[in-house]
Amino acid sequence: MTGAPPAGTRLLLATRNVKKLAELQRILDGALGAHRVELVGLADVEPYPEVPEAGLTFGENALLKAREGSRYTGLPTVADDSGLAVDAMGGMPGVFSARWSGRHGDDRANLGLLLAQLGDVPDEHRSAAFVCAAALVLPGGKEHLVEGRQSGRLLRTGRGDGGFGYDPIFLGDGQELTNAELTPAQKDAISHRGKAFRLMAKVIAKALG
Ligand code: IMP
Repeated sequence: MTGAPPAGTRLLLATRNVKKLAELQRILDGALGAHRVELVGLADVEPYPEVPEAGLTFGENALLKAREGSRYTGLPTVADDSGLAVDAMGGMPGVFSARWSGRHGDDRANLGLLLAQLGDVPDEHRSAAFVCAAALVLPGGKEHLVEGRQSGRLLRTGRGDGGFGYDPIFLGDGQELTNAELTPAQKDAISHRGKAFRLMAKVIAKALG
């Protein structure tokens, strides 16, 4: 493909989540041609001190992580940050989605607390969106930022065993199934992260091509 990076170009995705690595690699292979870019994760590079996610927006957090990765490894680095923005809560849990209940990564407690907080909120005001910002930072310091969103509304009880986080209570616009009832491929096709990663694949092709 014209503009595609040379085969074997190494790119760091600043994550330990192997599912995210596989998802971005699949999208990059589809967009650029197989294995033009060799994606590596944090487990594949020399350990470095990771920055706390101290930003107040998804974009700030993604940029913080990508800058850090590029600075320590010298590799072009992609980082993403995502979460759920609930309209009735002024966009919260937002960047606090992973630690809403006070325990980082406790999906069950986070979802339970959110449902309790929204107990009195009527159906017509239960709109929300999953948002994902993805940043690319090049060793020379150039920065790119993209964002993907999936809009929908929040149910009162969870449905489905797939996905993670707030997926069981999230019904995307135009969907009959919650995100937790979709197959991974169905979710990738409409999710905030799928959209952000597909935009990022185009940015990577241009920036590294
Ligand atoms: P991360 O930035 O991708 O690690 O996501 C932060 C938090 O946002 C997760 O711990 C989840 O609570 C929530 N979240 C992000 N993406 C999703 C998703 O696709 N489904 C459900 N919850 C998500």
